[in-house]
Amino acid sequence: MFEVLSEKWPEILDFFKSEYDVSDVSFKTWILPLEIKSVEDGLVTLVFTGPSESQGLKYINKKYLSFLKVSICESLDEDLDLQIILPNGEMDNSIATTNESKAQLLDRIKDSNLSEKFTFDSFVVGSNNNAAQVTALAVAESPGETYNPLYIYGGVGLGKTHLLQAIGNFVLEQNPEATVLYTYSESFVNEVIDLFNIFNDLHMKHKQIVITSDKIPKDMEGISERLINRFEMGLTVDIQNPDYETRMAILLNKAKQESGIEIDNSALDYIANNFISNVRELEGSYNKLVAYAKMKPGTVIDLDFAKDILKDMIDPDNKKNITCESIIEIVAEHFDLSTKDLISDKRSADIAWPRQICMYLCRYFTDDKLETIAKALNKTHGNVIYGIDKVKKEIETDPNTRATVEVLKKKVDPE
Ligand code: ADP
Ligand code: MG
Repeated sequence: MFEVLSEKWPEILDFFKSEYDVSDVSFKTWILPLEIKSVEDGLVTLVFTGPSESQGLKYINKKYLSFLKVSICESLDEDLDLQIILPNGEMDNSIATTNESKAQLLDRIKDSNLSEKFTFDSFVVGSNNNAAQVTALAVAESPGETYNPLYIYGGVGLGKTHLLQAIGNFVLEQNPEATVLYTYSESFVNEVIDLFNIFNDLHMKHKQIVITSDKIPKDMEGISERLINRFEMGLTVDIQNPDYETRMAILLNKAKQESGIEIDNSALDYIANNFISNVRELEGSYNKLVAYAKMKPGTVIDLDFAKDILKDMIDPDNKKNITCESIIEIVAEHFDLSTKDLISDKRSADIAWPRQICMYLCRYFTDDKLETIAKALNKTHGNVIYGIDKVKKEIETDPNTRATVEVLKKKVDPE
């Protein structure tokens, strides 16, 4: 293989230069100084003899490594890995591309108590988790420097642990020197006895701390007041129930990775409509369909199949019937208004505001189109868009609104 590669090397470089439109100067500076060192166990090693040593190595790794790899694999028609080292054998350890370091990375992921499955790549972003995902990524990119601690809260099965682990995986992948620990607060408290001092110590040393919980900090049980205060010092973000689009996106994302099985969108739509407040259950029902379909080769997963297989999980009698009408009633009662007021033409603030909250909740809990919501409230499509937007903004900026909406959500869907 070494000989073949050496022989084809000029041709490979020509291909690389034209295919990726590399300028003459860059080509001369960074690519020509590469020499083939070895080809062993599917790993091509090149030596970089060009300028500024480690920095230069870092640069070509970042800019050209994957393109070079593709060029080599294409021209040899082999699936090879590629690494570039300095003449003294030094590697750029800010990247992990070789077989060996991938295995090492997996080891470090395991040592950290993490699972490599939960990454930012596999996390579907929707309006329900956007804020949490963005902050989690910011924390992963510069741990200890932005939001510390980061506190993510939200209901069961909504992706908190997924994001938490994604941060850990990202950090481990970017930095081979990093230490990451994923642990349960109970076992952590038991192991180290005093989480408060540990917390302060880590925090003072700018070590990133990320906490997830199904409660806001002050409602956490078994945690001392002073520690809760510390939790509140950082940034608290929440994850909400996914809306219909996000639920479908999560399912489509899974279906995309499936091979050899035909899945009709009607089946996904059925699941998305029946599991609205827990991604774990959404995934669980999807997995069940796939498992059953695999038992009978040739099965197409369509609406009838889904209804049949999931009949035990979806009990029509138990299905909560949340409609715009029921939401309007609950909101009216909460604000001590009549439903008539809410759907009237009155525009005073004491009525307009609860009405806008209705719009928001209808959008949140039902899959009704904006037109349908507008009709239920006797308003225009534009009014509804404006209203939902306003409530969203208020929730972000005003803790009172946020609390009110939380209470109303519980009233609409007590679970
Ligand atoms: P939580 O910790 O909030 O109870 P998890 O993080 O364990 O929930 O999520 C439950 C399951 O749903 C996991 O398998 C996770 O990968 C999946 N999941 C949740 N949210 C998403 C998302 N936005 N995209 C992809 N998968 C998700
Ligand atoms: Mg969890």
